Amino acid sequence: MCRSISASRILAEADLAVDCLVAGAGAAGLCAALALANSGHRVAIAGKLEAASNGRTVALFEGSLRFLRAQQLWPHLTDIAAKIDAIELIDATNAPVPIPSLTFAADDIGLNALGANIEGDKLVLRLADLVRQNPAIHLVEDWITDIAYGDDNVTAVLVSGGTIHAKLIVAADGQRSIVRKKAGIGTRRWTYPQVALTALLAHELPHHDRSVEFHTRSGPCTLVPLRPRENAPQRSSLVWLMTPQEAERRRGLDATALAAEIAHEAEEIYGAMQLDSAVGFFPMAGMRATRFAGRRIALIAEAAHAFPPLAAQGLNLSLRDIAALLSSLKAAGQDIGALAPLRHYAEAREADVDIRVRGIDILNRSMLSDFLPVDMARGLGFFAMSAIGPLRRAALREGVLPPRALF
Ligand SMILES: Cc1cc2nc3c(=O)[nH]c(=O)nc-3n(C[C@H](O)[C@H](O)[C@H](O)COP(=O)(O)OP(=O)(O)OC[C@H]3O[C@@H](n4cnc5c(N)ncnc54)[C@H](O)[C@@H]3O)c2cc1C
Repeated sequence: MCRSISASRILAEADLAVDCLVAGAGAAGLCAALALANSGHRVAIAGKLEAASNGRTVALFEGSLRFLRAQQLWPHLTDIAAKIDAIELIDATNAPVPIPSLTFAADDIGLNALGANIEGDKLVLRLADLVRQNPAIHLVEDWITDIAYGDDNVTAVLVSGGTIHAKLIVAADGQRSIVRKKAGIGTRRWTYPQVALTALLAHELPHHDRSVEFHTRSGPCTLVPLRPRENAPQRSSLVWLMTPQEAERRRGLDATALAAEIAHEAEEIYGAMQLDSAVGFFPMAGMRATRFAGRRIALIAEAAHAFPPLAAQGLNLSLRDIAALLSSLKAAGQDIGALAPLRHYAEAREADVDIRVRGIDILNRSMLSDFLPVDMARGLGFFAMSAIGPLRRAALREGVLPPRALF
């Protein structure tokens, strides 16, 4: 029995029938489509390919790169990726207690690099090219307007009026997921008094393949290495969390004035700066779906969880969703949309997601608070990690190569 689409639509001839439909052609959806096709499934992916042009990048850590290598995707991305050798955290909160700087380096844990940074638009375009070249994937460049969950399959209706039947729908359609909503899965949401300003930057001095986070009272200001381009040999991406009032004021600045403020916030270690992209503004919020799966539906990526871009966790976590889904589907037998494997997927993801959501929340709020005991706890944590090698290495491994990663 189907729910939520008018009878005439349900009875209409199907345009397409596949094993698995991925909703949403963002970075996570495209990776999911490619990985599901690699596992032998017939896949459709529905969504519009849009260049966001918002100065956003994704830093992917070693665990994610291992997944992309295992899926034979990484060799197609290396020419757009810049390596990250180290991450330096610099306290700029003017806390009344001394808080030391902290550096996490790849060779601390025997790696050549901690990860790589890629421009968001370039990543989506490159993954879309790979999807187009894959004969096991139908790329349907259209929006999903309705979904019906039936006993034996799920049907998606497109704006064009066409339909796609599948055994399983993978919701990768972002925070406002229609797929999640139509399945009756709720969300828990919360907000932060912050806006993230994003941009690509060209600068005078080298970044030495090092990402730097300046921790301020309004949140971190993070610069991450980017690949050079013609006439811009030194480039980095910026994610700068600030109060909504400061974001509004900076929205009104011209490019030269804004670049000067960024160079100043980065304590002039990059020398003079120029904007190398449009600027993006993102109000900071968190969201977690009340469950990650149901009969015929699995939620991944920002359809399942979203949080502020501290410690660059979003897409890294999403790739772990995909790895866990592949692993659960392997044991599914004939019907990949049956409840048992999807319940297994949901259970496998909950602890990892909840640890990140809570960890990011605590880290973010600890910077915003000027309550002395909170500053002392943060200072103690930084001091312990800087002085105690095994603790620092354990924290680094948890960040870049988490044990729950399935690849
Ligand atoms: C400022 C900022 C910086 C970040 N930095 C990092 C980082 O360094 N590292 C990291 O790992 N993560 C980072 N993230 C998170 C990361 O960008 C996201 O996790 C990542 O983009 C994956 O998002 P997604 O594919 O789930 O969602 P989206 O990118 O929102 O994609 C959802 C897709 O679904 C489509 N869609 C929506 N509705 C429909 C519909 N009805 N039918 C069809 N398609 C639909 C949308 O058009 C879109 O293409 C950052 C996030 C922010 C805000």
